[in-house]
Amino acid sequence: MALKSKDEISKEKKKLFESITKEPPFADGKGRVERFEGRRVVLDLKYFPYRFMKESNKLMGRASTTLMYLVGKRCGKDIYDGYVELGHDKDAALELSTAGMWYFGWGLVDIDVKTKEAVIYDSFEADSFNLNKKRGNTPTCHFFRGVISGIWIAYSGKACYGDETMCKAKGDKYCRIVIRATG
Ligand SMILES: [Zn+2]
Repeated sequence: MALKSKDEISKEKKKLFESITKEPPFADGKGRVERFEGRRVVLDLKYFPYRFMKESNKLMGRASTTLMYLVGKRCGKDIYDGYVELGHDKDAALELSTAGMWYFGWGLVDIDVKTKEAVIYDSFEADSFNLNKKRGNTPTCHFFRGVISGIWIAYSGKACYGDETMCKAKGDKYCRIVIRATG
């Protein structure tokens, strides 16, 4: 097939999508979303993480929730360390980590360092399940649980895990993640 240039494809896709919506595009003229020192991607909550969790659950059962937790934990550590590398102190890095979640639309997160718990309003994970009308009896925010744990491990230097005791996906007003010591 004839190889089109990136510019050609961009113009074509832009014109086509502008014919169905007046909303400004997330992407720049090159089809890339680049904000705050990184390339981003925008995913519909109808698909992510709900679809990912559904398919991975078919493949590996309950291990899928552990996988999501571990991915989140790694991300949480990296997010926190990133703010420390930018020159912020421990407490500022903790605050900025949750401010970033507001900035990127993950949810509204408030961490209480004394009680070691986090409250999350409108977790994207819970809302993804709710959008698919999959309200159940178990919490669904395994990625978020991991992120909060990863941040806390980096902040405190202590081994711990996050336990989600309340979740919007099971009808609670907000999600609540409690940091518990391991071992
Ligand atoms: Zn939740």
